[in-house]
Amino acid sequence: MAKLITEEQLAVQREYITKLRGENALYAQRTGRARSVLTETYGCQQNENDTERIRGMLRDAGFEFTEDPHNADVVIYNTCAVRENAEQKVFGRLGILKHIKEEERPDMIVAVCGCMVQQEHITEKIKAVHDHVDLVFGTHALYKMPELLYRAVKEKNVVVDIEQSDGAIAEDLPIMRDGSDKAWVSVMYGCNNFCSYCIVPYVRGRERSRSADAVMNEVRELAANGVSEISLLGQNVNSYGKDLDEGIDFADLLTMVNGVEGVKRIRFMTSHPKDLSDKLIDAIARCDKVCKQLHLPVQAGSDRVLKQMNRRYTKAQYLEKIDKIKKAIPEISLSTDIIVGFPTETNEDFEETLDVLRKAEFDHIFSFIYSRREGTPAAKLDFALSDEEIRRNFNKLLDVQNEISKRKNEAMVGTVETVLVDGVSKNDAAMLSGRCDNSKIVNFKGDKSLIGKYIDVRITEAHTWSLNGEYVRETEGR
Ligand code: SF4
Repeated sequence: MAKLITEEQLAVQREYITKLRGENALYAQRTGRARSVLTETYGCQQNENDTERIRGMLRDAGFEFTEDPHNADVVIYNTCAVRENAEQKVFGRLGILKHIKEEERPDMIVAVCGCMVQQEHITEKIKAVHDHVDLVFGTHALYKMPELLYRAVKEKNVVVDIEQSDGAIAEDLPIMRDGSDKAWVSVMYGCNNFCSYCIVPYVRGRERSRSADAVMNEVRELAANGVSEISLLGQNVNSYGKDLDEGIDFADLLTMVNGVEGVKRIRFMTSHPKDLSDKLIDAIARCDKVCKQLHLPVQAGSDRVLKQMNRRYTKAQYLEKIDKIKKAIPEISLSTDIIVGFPTETNEDFEETLDVLRKAEFDHIFSFIYSRREGTPAAKLDFALSDEEIRRNFNKLLDVQNEISKRKNEAMVGTVETVLVDGVSKNDAAMLSGRCDNSKIVNFKGDKSLIGKYIDVRITEAHTWSLNGEYVRETEGR
């Protein structure tokens, strides 16, 4: 059974939401305006989903939302710990807020939450250097946000809650979702893999799966409210259910979600290659609503580096899985994560990564230069390459992949693809943009009334990162 935050614990938080609402009503009477809050999210979809919960609780507490820190009474940064530059960005933002708070908004409450502050040395740094921060809470304390924020409003001392928990899951928290057509649904939290470069198991704890009932109830409710695309989230969804005694694994869960009326598209991430089973490949192939797209992080191509990363597969085993997937689902679109410049990686090791790219022929990759994370085993290793060599390899990686991505996109020219229209294109305000079943972005001319609808688009042009197309017709989806 999934271990849950109890109804009593949740009731306490509901009381704090009521108290905050009372405080906010008094504030509005006094000032003639509602208290407003700015939330900013860094990192992965899991964090985005957590922020939706935070915003749900804030909305219920009577806050309004703003994107302008100069107008904000409360600012909450939901942070990421995976790479150093995300942390630097947060510290930069905190520096700017210090001026705003000192010069314009002395009563502003500044809160930092999420993975970054689950690391003790970061919280210590915030307390020492950023004394304008009023509230710090980690990933395990998210459900307690109403109580912590209430205390931060009332108390003059900084409120901190970064304790590790026993991993209990908080179900039924309020939520304010970003869109009305697509939704993220977390199926599990944490990770047990301890890849040697990764901070996630230390900041998000061990794997905990939500019960299949809880996941299905959320999916059914979303579908009943008109959400047609569901993305199932977890650090390693392939481990789903291993900690429960329900006898339901991730392939079973996909099949169950596939049966929900109203759901038209199902996506999921992330899959660890070592846990990708034949049963799951079969479920992706068989379930008509599961998008034919798979993100399978390889990270490196050298067996020696993979071993040091504690990935627990070899290059050959990884490529074998890729072959198997392509045979079972020929139209599959594949993506991966690559780390360039892992401490002991040599130029010869890096050539093995390029070899994986050429053999697997990913549709696209997410590539990163290794970022040292304090407290992880890899942080103690020495570098084999200079920064310059690592940067050169990184650029080489992009060159090789860009050519493959462009070629794969060109193969789609002339085909008609069903696209869920997301909105106005980020690159060209005169175009709309949406995603194909295989997750590729298509830009096309069309009326804004198409936003949120499924339409068929003929692909007319291929770029490295996206496609251009022309409107053909509206469809029922997928
Ligand atoms: S599988 Fe490895 S890289 Fe992914 S979250 Fe877990 S420890 Fe980090």
